[in-house]
Amino acid sequence: MERRKFLKGAAIAGTGAALAAPAIAQSGKTMTIVSTWGRDFPGLGISAQRLAERITELSQGELRTEYFAAGERVGAFDSFDEVASGNSQAYIGAEYYWAGKHPAFTYFTAVPFGMTVPEHNAWIKYAGGQELWDKLSAEFGLKAIMAGATGTQAGGWFNKEINSPEDLNGLKMRIPGLAGALMSKLGVSTVSLPGGQIYENLVSGSIDATEWVGPYNDYFMKFYEAAKYYYTAGMHEPGAALCLGTNKAWWDSLSAHEQAIITAACYEEHAAQAEEASANNGAYLARLVDDHGVQTRTFNDDVWDAFGEAAAEVFEETRDHSPMAAEINDDYQAKMREIGGWRAVAEIEYSNQRNRILGIG
Ligand code: CA
Repeated sequence: MERRKFLKGAAIAGTGAALAAPAIAQSGKTMTIVSTWGRDFPGLGISAQRLAERITELSQGELRTEYFAAGERVGAFDSFDEVASGNSQAYIGAEYYWAGKHPAFTYFTAVPFGMTVPEHNAWIKYAGGQELWDKLSAEFGLKAIMAGATGTQAGGWFNKEINSPEDLNGLKMRIPGLAGALMSKLGVSTVSLPGGQIYENLVSGSIDATEWVGPYNDYFMKFYEAAKYYYTAGMHEPGAALCLGTNKAWWDSLSAHEQAIITAACYEEHAAQAEEASANNGAYLARLVDDHGVQTRTFNDDVWDAFGEAAAEVFEETRDHSPMAAEINDDYQAKMREIGGWRAVAEIEYSNQRNRILGIG
């Protein structure tokens, strides 16, 4: 609240300053942003609101953002059409929500057995990922920038233990994107609900299981009231990236300076969100266990192997969708092996040895 007041004050001060420079006042633009997250939604919603405020702040009012949370202007999953049509200038959300528009959008959030946050960042910014993203987005009149990362997501909340691939058969689970398609191959009935609707469906028994993000974000969702088993590492979102997607015609109409401001604000929030989660996940996992009786579990190798076999089928099906889907999949898989190969023998090897010797984890 204090921050909002301060920013309002800053925006007014900015307007005042602009009076002395009419050129800036005349070029001031309204940037309407819709979101897939609810108002004040813990973690993701607050991050999106912070990004919207930051664009106004950094641009000193040159770009005045108007932020609408999910349901305030359009529904969460209507954000894509709202921006593609030009009714609003931008959305904040996760690209895999648009898998129904084109399955390749999923690669720009996360795919099963895909890249972690540092790997994904490297691909997008320095190894050709952004160019492929731009090519895909342009087909829908959009241009997107990374603007949030959750880190490696937890396997999810289950109302029973999963000790074999057969235990997944018949389960109803909220899990979006290609991971949902993967789980379907193992007999799971999957749904892709917006974050704000998961709790009620879990409590009512409409679903038996859900994934969300990780301990810090999940803590506030209160899923532990309906599902006690919390699986730690999952295959489904190893480094989920969120984004700000703009209407491409609008984006192209901006000055290089305005584009730079939006990009800088997005990258700042991209880093901040992942760092905030990293700083809090360990402490919030302890609170879930100690205060709410949550029982942590890990999937065994049989379950992981079944995930792996199903993933291979999902990627083949995705490639078959279109030349664009095949191009993006193949580049993603190749770059992951290249970027991840060094990390495996450097950071991962180091982390494994450190944790073994110091007894971490
Ligand atoms: Ca998730």
